[in-house]
Amino acid sequence: MKTELYIDGAFVAPAGGATLPAVDPATEQVFAQVASGGAEDIDRAVRAARRAFDAGVWSDLPATERAAVLRRIANGIRENLADLAALETRDNGKPLPEAQWDIEDAAFCFDYYADLAEADAAQPLRTNDVGDARFDSRVLREPVGVVAAITPWNFPMLMAVWKVAPALAAGCCVVLKPSELCAMTCHALAGIIDKAGLPAGVFNLVTGFGAEAGAPLSEHALVDKVAFTGSVATGRKVMQAASAGIRTVSLELGGKSPFLVFDDCDIDKAVEWILFGIFWNKGEVCSATSRVLVQRGIYARLIERLKEVTEAIRIGAGDQPGVKLGPIVSKGQYDKILGFLERAKDSGARLVTGGGRAEGFEVGYYIAPTIYADVPLDAEIWREEIFGPVVCLNPFDTEEEALRLANDSPYGLAAAVMSDDLERCDRVAAKLRAGIIWINCSQPTFTQAPWGGYKSSGIGRELGREGFDAFLETKQVTRFDHSQTWGWYLDEEEAGQ
Ligand code: NAD
Repeated sequence: MKTELYIDGAFVAPAGGATLPAVDPATEQVFAQVASGGAEDIDRAVRAARRAFDAGVWSDLPATERAAVLRRIANGIRENLADLAALETRDNGKPLPEAQWDIEDAAFCFDYYADLAEADAAQPLRTNDVGDARFDSRVLREPVGVVAAITPWNFPMLMAVWKVAPALAAGCCVVLKPSELCAMTCHALAGIIDKAGLPAGVFNLVTGFGAEAGAPLSEHALVDKVAFTGSVATGRKVMQAASAGIRTVSLELGGKSPFLVFDDCDIDKAVEWILFGIFWNKGEVCSATSRVLVQRGIYARLIERLKEVTEAIRIGAGDQPGVKLGPIVSKGQYDKILGFLERAKDSGARLVTGGGRAEGFEVGYYIAPTIYADVPLDAEIWREEIFGPVVCLNPFDTEEEALRLANDSPYGLAAAVMSDDLERCDRVAAKLRAGIIWINCSQPTFTQAPWGGYKSSGIGRELGREGFDAFLETKQVTRFDHSQTWGWYLDEEEAGQ
């Protein structure tokens, strides 16, 4: 199979005719050729989006009409759920039930923003009390314009939809550039959007490498906003590129999120959520709770139980029944994780289980689920995002110490706390410097709730009401009562002549 770009309402080959391989990480086999776009394709896509936006073919439609198209897209995703989930699993390696969640969430995200766009349009305009009865001042909310959406490979379709659905709901036109590692479901999404009847140019897809397609997109002068999800290093480049044109940027970046476990909680419940917090999606999760702080009284017992349950996790190809841990997305990411594990040998951390390639596989990028305990606070594995199935544990004695250790990170995406004392949970939640706090769980993510990080984990919020506002500009319209005189240069008599 060979994919194409989607520009100005048509599927087209990239200008240079280049392709890049889609690799199944379970078999290491190439299963498709993905269109690899470059600066010329990006320019065509951005110009198409600009034309569509400036002509108002989408933004001028009543919100109910836009919502109807969004709901058709949601239905199109649902009708293709089984195929899309299978494709996501093949491209990314994640277990099939996880891919099904992602695709269902993607459909719901279109429905949610369809509802929000309609509800928003039905609201009366906000007025400003300017303290002078001669003025009537109102606030308009308008689409920000042409949006560049640049997305990663860990939730390939869902991360794209978190941007595309609210941007379209708000009336924006979009150029989507997914990750070169997993672009197949975004290509399928373009087919669904095409059938849903969106006007030409409103949604465009350019697949390709970051340097060849992502960079020219984030630099393009006709883009109004860059919505980026990915690593801190690339986020920094995107922000720099956007600074040239003073464009709005939202950044969803990495994390090294803490999980605080107090000694009054049930050990099995803690084990369940600690494992879900790090091994779900193979640990390729920006909000993975990869630093676990456990109160000393249960530290040893909890590690013992974690080891036992971890060693029973079924590893394998994502399409195999019962598999809970699939292969790492790519050879590059697999090697990167092995590098962390190799260097960890000299870090002083105690390896509890795992620590290398999973046993029993001849092919596939499999890493054993890995647990380290007593990890030095300056160790690379404690401080840096590994983005794989690797969790680090340390003990603490007091709530104050736990908070200090938890907040001691340049990141601030998410954090979790577990205790039977809910007052303590609320107190700790208030003191954690992160944008997402889970109490007595880790990772459940809801379209209705805002998502994003403090500190180096990003700027802005996706999902929820905030994820819609992120694609709106605010305009004040202030009217002077013409029956009155202003009286600065002309007094009342002169003005009336
Ligand atoms: P990445 O930064 O390597 O790539 C992200 C996207 O940027 C890709 O589409 C890539 O092609 C593109 N890109 C690369 N170089 C570019 C450039 N110079 N200009 C413009 N675009 C460029 O990240 P990744 O490896 O795909 O994803 C993993 C990272 O994403 C992790 O750090 C993870 O924490 C983060 N992430 C964050 C969230 C969140 O919501 N905060 C969600 C998922 C992933």
